[in-house]
Amino acid sequence: MTKTLKGIAASDGIAVAPAYLLVEPDLSFNKTSIDDVEAEVSRYEKAVADSTSEVENIRDIAKKSLGEEESQVFDAHLMILNDPEFTGAIGEQIKNSKINAEAALDETAKNFISIFEGMTDNPYMQERAADVRDVSKRIMAHLLGKKLPNPASIDHEVVVVAHDLTPSDTAQLNKKYVKGFVTDIGGRTAHSAIMARSLELPAVVGTDSVTKDVQDGQNMIVDGLDGDVIIEPSEDQVREYKEKGEAFLKQKAEWQKLKDEPSVTADGKKFIIAANIGTPNDMPGVHENGAEAIGLYRTEFLYMDSSDFPTEDAQFDAYKSVIEGMNGKQTIIRTMDIGGDKHLDYWDLPEEMNPFLGVRAIRLSLQNEEIFRTQLRALLRASAYGPLGIMFPMIGTLGELRKAKSILNDEKAKLIDKGVKVGDDLQVGMMIEVPAAAVLADQFAKEVDFFSIGTNDLIQYTLAADRGNDSLSYLYQPYNPSVLRLIKHTIDGAHENGIWVGMCGEAAGDSTMFPILLSMGLDEYSMSATSILRIRSLMKKLNTEDLKELANQACFVSETAEDNEKLVNDLIEKLTK
Ligand code: PEP
Ligand code: MG
Repeated sequence: MTKTLKGIAASDGIAVAPAYLLVEPDLSFNKTSIDDVEAEVSRYEKAVADSTSEVENIRDIAKKSLGEEESQVFDAHLMILNDPEFTGAIGEQIKNSKINAEAALDETAKNFISIFEGMTDNPYMQERAADVRDVSKRIMAHLLGKKLPNPASIDHEVVVVAHDLTPSDTAQLNKKYVKGFVTDIGGRTAHSAIMARSLELPAVVGTDSVTKDVQDGQNMIVDGLDGDVIIEPSEDQVREYKEKGEAFLKQKAEWQKLKDEPSVTADGKKFIIAANIGTPNDMPGVHENGAEAIGLYRTEFLYMDSSDFPTEDAQFDAYKSVIEGMNGKQTIIRTMDIGGDKHLDYWDLPEEMNPFLGVRAIRLSLQNEEIFRTQLRALLRASAYGPLGIMFPMIGTLGELRKAKSILNDEKAKLIDKGVKVGDDLQVGMMIEVPAAAVLADQFAKEVDFFSIGTNDLIQYTLAADRGNDSLSYLYQPYNPSVLRLIKHTIDGAHENGIWVGMCGEAAGDSTMFPILLSMGLDEYSMSATSILRIRSLMKKLNTEDLKELANQACFVSETAEDNEKLVNDLIEKLTK
C-alpha cells in the first residue's frame, strides 16, 4: 500500500529506488549462567565463523566499489576475528565463569577496549579500540540472531533510510549506488542534511517515522525539493516524479552555464558567493559550482571522522590542501565546533541538560586549551599557503573573543620565533550566532577583520527553539523580523567599523532570504556548493535600486515571518516577470 510521509526538504533532487535500512538492531542481552559449557562455546565459535565470512564478503564488495583504502578497515576486523588472544579469551571466559557467550563477549571486549584506549603513547594501538568495538558488535549480532546493516556492501541502487546519519556512516556510502537519504530526525541545518547537499544527493530529513514505515527493499520516492517521501508508489507516481527529477536536472544544467561568471546584480553590483565545506573531499563540488571563496570550512568533521584527535600534522595537511586548492581565493576555516549535537566517541565529555546551551564550540576550546592550541598551530602553518581567515564559533562575549585571539597570537609568535612561516594575509574573524554578539556587533567589529553570521544557530537562540527538534520547527523562522533586525544590526555594526560581513548559515542560500540580505548590503554569501548557481542566477535578475526599501520594511514594518515571505515573493514575482 502506498504511503506518503512529509519531512523537511534537505537536499534538492528526486530519487526513486528501493529502501536500504541503515538501522542498528537492539543488541541488549541478559547475563545468565550456563550448564552446558561445550554447547555454549560452539555456539560462540559459530558466531565468530559467521562473522568472519560476512566480513570477508563485505571487504570484497567494498574493495570493488569503494577502493582499496576504504576496504582496509575490514582487513583489520578480520585480523581481530582471527586473533586467538581475543577470540580465545572469550571462549576461556565462557568455560571459566560458566556464563553465556553474550556476557563473556561483552566483558572481554570491554577489557580489550580499555587496554587499547589506555595506550596513550601509541596512537596506532589506540585506534584498534574502535575495531574491537565493531567486531564485538558483529559477533554479538550473530549470537542474538540479529542483522547489522553493512553500508559498505551496498552494490545496487538504493535510498538509505536511517534514524540519523553520522559522518562515518556517510564515508562508507558509495555515491554510485546511494541515490538519496531519508532520516527520522533533523532539520535543514542538521549535519546529515549538510552532508547530503555536499554529496549532491536528494534528501528528506525529519520525517519522524520513516525507519518504522518502510521495510528493507520496498520501492520509494524521495522528493528533496518539496520534502515528500512516497513508499511503494504507483506507476503513475513513479512516472510523475521521474519527470519532476528530469525538469530539475534541466534547470540545474541552465544554472551550470553561470559557473565561471562573476556574482553580480542586474545593476552591476558585485558580491561574493562562497561555499561551505566539511572536508577536503568537498573541493570538487566547490569548483564545479563556481564558488568564489570558501566562507566556512567546518573543521569538526575532521575530528568526528577520526578515531582519535587528529594530530597537528594531519590537520595541517587537510587545511593546506583546501587553501592550495582555492588557487589564491580566500578560505575561511572555523575552529572546531564540537558539543551541541556533535560528539566524539573518543572524547568523553560530561552529559549536559541543554547541550546547545552548554560547553560547545569556542567554550569547549577555551576549556581545553592544548587541543585548541594544536588546531591553531596547524591553521597558522597552513596560512603560509594562501589567503586564510581563521574564524571562532559561538563567541558570546568580548572576553571570549579576546582570550581566543590572545591564544592565537601567542601561538603565532612562538611559530615565528622558531622560524616557521605564517601567512601575511591572515584575517581573524568570528561567527555571529549568539544574539548577545549580534546586539554588540559594533563593539566586536572593532576587534576582528570580519564577521560571518551563523543563522542556523542565531535563529535557534533568538527564538529559543532547538534547531533539531521537529515539533518546534514552526518556531524556526529565518524571516522573523526579530532575526532580521539582529542580522541588519550586525551588518550595520560591521560596516560602520570598516569590516566586511558574510553569512554562512543556511539562510544565505535561501531564495526568499537572499533579496532581503542583498538589500541590507551583506558582502559575502556562503552556502552549500549546490545552492551557489541558483543564487547567482537569482542575483543576476535583481536590481539593488528596486530592493532599497526591502530591508527596512522586512525589519520594521512586517510583523511576522509570513508577512516577510509574502513581501519577498510578491516583489520577486513583480521584478522577474
Ligand atoms: C550556523 O550556526 O549558522 C553555522 C553555520 O554553524 P553550524 O551549522 O555548523 O552550527
Ligand atoms: Mg553554528
